[in-house]
Amino acid sequence: MSEKYLMALDQGTTSSRCIIFDRSGNIKALAQKEFEQYYPKPGYVEHNPMEIWSSELSVTMEAMAVMGVKCEDIEAIGITNQRETTILWDKNTGEPVYNAIVWQCRRTAGMIDEIVSAGHSDKIRKITGLVPDAYFSASKIKWILDNVEGARERAEKGDILFGTVDTWLIWKLTKGKVFVTDYTNASRTMLYDIHKLEWSKELLDIFDIPKCILPKVMPSSCIYGYTDESILGGRIAIAAAAGDQQAALFGQCCFEKGDVKNTYGTGSFILMNTGKDPIDSSNGLLTTIAAGLDEKPDYALEGSVFVAGASVQWLRDSMRMLKNAAQSEEYADEVSDSAGVYVVPAFTGMGAPYWNQYARGSIFGITRGCKKEHFIRATLESIAYQSYDVFKAMEEDAGVNITELKVDGGASANNFLMKFQSDITGCTVKRPKCIETTALGAAYLAGLATGYYSDRNEIRKNYNLGREFDPSFSEDKRNELLKGWNRAVKAALLWADDQN
Ligand code: ADP
Repeated sequence: MSEKYLMALDQGTTSSRCIIFDRSGNIKALAQKEFEQYYPKPGYVEHNPMEIWSSELSVTMEAMAVMGVKCEDIEAIGITNQRETTILWDKNTGEPVYNAIVWQCRRTAGMIDEIVSAGHSDKIRKITGLVPDAYFSASKIKWILDNVEGARERAEKGDILFGTVDTWLIWKLTKGKVFVTDYTNASRTMLYDIHKLEWSKELLDIFDIPKCILPKVMPSSCIYGYTDESILGGRIAIAAAAGDQQAALFGQCCFEKGDVKNTYGTGSFILMNTGKDPIDSSNGLLTTIAAGLDEKPDYALEGSVFVAGASVQWLRDSMRMLKNAAQSEEYADEVSDSAGVYVVPAFTGMGAPYWNQYARGSIFGITRGCKKEHFIRATLESIAYQSYDVFKAMEEDAGVNITELKVDGGASANNFLMKFQSDITGCTVKRPKCIETTALGAAYLAGLATGYYSDRNEIRKNYNLGREFDPSFSEDKRNELLKGWNRAVKAALLWADDQN
């Protein structure tokens, strides 16, 4: 019997990708295509759902063509996607009702303020595990129903469907036969009861959303349906769907309670598997559903840092201190410390555990001796300090001691940053050989659904360590550095709070 492959469709915020993996998790083909970002007004971010679909379809065909495989060579497809992004379309014609409203879009911030003022925060938090915010799908759905002429009437008649990007892609791949989402994506809509595992009638009423537009929610790893023959020329099982961060947690083999991963991209997304018990955070973290195989899913705690790798982009593009992101490592290594300089890159406010939307970027401790190298080093260190703050919050919420951290994402390539992260947290930092963990997670979930893999242990054997970083700071040194960081954050927050 010839070897079969797993295909991951990785639909991200700026590009659509298709990666074909072999059984050992090696990349056999990769195709990627960027698509247009639309900014119709300040703070508004949209995508065209048809461009999401066509870019994803074209990279899928490209990856198959480059590798020379046919549909029968592909065991199954796993989908992973930008989360929360909201699409409404006509179920009869397949035409989108409006552009996709992207997770970053702030147009519904005022709607959320009203919901908070009406006293719904605790309820939302208890039912969905989320902090009320325009980030999640609920207010975006309501915005489309309220602002597109005729949309609400058509929705109430049952002619409109809502989906996050996974749902949209599955519906398109099956030519409208399958209308589903998975637990992880549902848990980011702010409409899903993560404890009872059902759409919350109470929240649907608050947001005035008709239940008939919502997809059926299923586990992240199961066969939802098959690609229609007219799409790729054959039938392939669509056997997994998971939001990007949850897929990365799975791709990093964080299967056990207490396992943690950090993805260092534009921002940093830190997730901890908390097993069958959802943990209610007292420190501003989110409770969400992790990708798994069972009807009864695992849960995760999530904390995000808004600006991580983006601070390096800022050094490169706005400060013009770097030619490329990788150069930041060389500069940081040229000095033995940051000369007491602390950068707080709160360009868009601060996320967990501070949650201050008025904080802004600040720099402290500059003396006459501060050079560009110190400045760059302090910026990289700030990525690690911000992640440290989320780990501390997680340790407190979960009542555990984190000893090991799995890392991925573009900025995890920076060895200085990874070593400093290890030093400042006191954890061992493990970077896998293949940092495409998001796509890998979706592929693994699909392979488990069809029996291609017998169980998670088989997948664990695929984990290939690229490099490990061990802590070497003394307790005193760590404490001293952290004291400086805490002072810097305190000062940045004071500056924000004192503005009126
Ligand atoms: P995203 O998926 O959010 O677009 P990626 O995982 O592709 O992000 O990572 C890109 C980010 O990582 C950019 O913000 C970039 O500045 C940063 N980055 C990439 N390489 C390095 C590096 N060697 N050192 C530090 N930051 C880096």
